[in-house]
Amino acid sequence: MTHISEPIADRLAAVRARLAAACRAAGRDAAGVRLVAVGKTFGADALVRAADAGQRDFGENYLQEALPKIAALRAARADLVWHFIGPIQGNKTADIAAHFDWVHGVERERIARRLSAQRPAGAPPLQVCVQVNISGEQSKSGIAPAGAPALCHAVAALPGLKLRGLMAIPAPARAGADPRAAYRVLRELFEALRRDGFDLDTLSAGMSDDLEAAIAEGATLVRIGTAIFGTRT
Ligand SMILES: *Cc1c(COP(=O)(O)O)cnc(C)c1O
Repeated sequence: MTHISEPIADRLAAVRARLAAACRAAGRDAAGVRLVAVGKTFGADALVRAADAGQRDFGENYLQEALPKIAALRAARADLVWHFIGPIQGNKTADIAAHFDWVHGVERERIARRLSAQRPAGAPPLQVCVQVNISGEQSKSGIAPAGAPALCHAVAALPGLKLRGLMAIPAPARAGADPRAAYRVLRELFEALRRDGFDLDTLSAGMSDDLEAAIAEGATLVRIGTAIFGTRT
């Protein structure tokens, strides 16, 4: 067993070291950054190894793939936190609301209303990040920055949901371009919303290739797949 479990534990340790170094470089406390391990395409066994190595937050993109993994891991560990990070279709909201703790890809009020109505009674509020399109026409996902305040208002008012912050997946920076530029736009929007009185504490930004740029621009939650579990096929 040990020889199989070593790589994921080692990769996880390397990612934590990268996060710590990025926080040091930015003059930030590493305790202020939450690491979400993104397990899409990898089996429950890989997630178990990460959990054995101390990982608590897990992100999944595809509902059908995620549900059996959540069931498999919940049986053994009740303390894991599940983040839905993929695009949200209207016919999937009931299962997302029932099985996840966080949802990062909310980009329409209609979806937020469904998640609110379908969050099971007695469950803690579903933690929500509004997804913002900070790359303009290069990306289809996320609400335009100008629409973010109205959507944040709507989410904040819905029962069963807790608005936590913003999420973005920037288009890859072109060669030679500043990798922080897109994240700077996101951070400025986040700070403007906070000045307007929104109670936001989460900036969900940064993946395997660009976590340093995201941390430098204030990310409080990074979503890391490849650097922990390996290359997806
Ligand atoms: C797949 C995915 C990630 C992880 O990407 P890596 O480059 O493998 O770290 C993060 N966020 C979202 C929304 C994803 O779909």
